[in-house]
Amino acid sequence: MKHKFRIDFIALVVLLSFFAGCDGTFSLTKPITDPPVSTATDEEYRGEVTYSQTSDTDTGNNDSQSITSASEEISEKTAEETEAITEVQTDASEPVEISNATVESGSKTVYLTFDDGPSGKYSAQILDILEERGIKATFFTLGTYVDRNPEIVKRMKDEGHMVGCHTYSHDYSSVYSGAEGFKNEIKMWESSMEKALGSIPEEKLFRFPGGSVSKETGYAKEILFGMGYKGFDWNAVSNDCLLSSKPEDMTDEEYLKDSLISSLEYSFNLKTSPHIILMHETYFQTVEMLEWTIDYLTDQGCSFGTLDQLDSSWYF
Ligand SMILES: [Zn+2]
Repeated sequence: MKHKFRIDFIALVVLLSFFAGCDGTFSLTKPITDPPVSTATDEEYRGEVTYSQTSDTDTGNNDSQSITSASEEISEKTAEETEAITEVQTDASEPVEISNATVESGSKTVYLTFDDGPSGKYSAQILDILEERGIKATFFTLGTYVDRNPEIVKRMKDEGHMVGCHTYSHDYSSVYSGAEGFKNEIKMWESSMEKALGSIPEEKLFRFPGGSVSKETGYAKEILFGMGYKGFDWNAVSNDCLLSSKPEDMTDEEYLKDSLISSLEYSFNLKTSPHIILMHETYFQTVEMLEWTIDYLTDQGCSFGTLDQLDSSWYF
C-alpha cells in the first residue's frame, strides 16, 4: 500500500510541477508535432503514420536549467536540471500525430539518454558502467561543456555512443529567442563538436532544452528538419532533476526507482512509441542507480538502442 501511495504521490508531484512549470511559468499541455510529419497524408514523407492515443493521457515535460555563457563558471545551481515527465489530461477524441516509422508494436527496446553533459562530473563513471555492461546510449550534449571537456566527447564517440545536440548554452533566453537565435545555438554546438572531434556527428540528433512542449518550438522544428536533425523528447524518466522536491519520507534511491518504474509503465502502455528514458549525467544519484536501472530494464525483457536507429523525430 505504501509503495502504491508513493507512486500516486509522485504522479501528483510531477503533474503539479508541470502545471506550475518547473521554471515558474505555466506551460502548454498539448503535444506539438514536428511540422514535417504533422499530417496523416504526409506518410510518404518519412513513413510516419497517425497515431491516436488509446488513453486520455499524454506527456509533457519541462525544465529550467540555464547555463548562461561559455565563459561563466558553471555552478551546482546552474547545473541543476528540472526536466520532468508528467501525465496530462488531453481530449481523447483528438488524434495525436506522432511519427512512427520503425517501432514495432510491443517492442521492448529502450533508449537510455543522458542530458546536459559532458560536465566532467560523472561522465567517466557513466561511460565506465555502460562499457562494462556493453550498452550504448545517447548523450545530448551542450556546446559549452563540449568546449571544456572535448576528451569526454571523443570517448563517447569512440565507444560507440551517440552524441546529440542539446544546444550550445541551454539558456532559454538564447535558445528560444527566435529563429536566428535558435539556429545560432545549433551552429555554435556544431562548431564545438568540430573542434572536439574534427567533424560534426553523421547522425544529427537533437533534444530541446525543457522538451519540445515547454516552449513554442514550431519554427525551431522546421529549422532542425532543414538542417537534417531528428528531434527527440522522452516518455520515461527517473526524475533525477526533481530530487530536491521529492517527498520527505522517501530516500533518493526510492524516489528515483519509483519514478522510473511508474513512468516506464506509462511508456510501455504506449504500444507503438519508442521508450525513451531521460536521465542527466550531472547527478551522482543517477550514477549510483545506473547499474540497478540496467538490471531492472534487462529483467523486464528490454534491449537497449540508440536514437539514430529511429527513422524519424519523436515529440511526445
Ligand atoms: Zn537539459
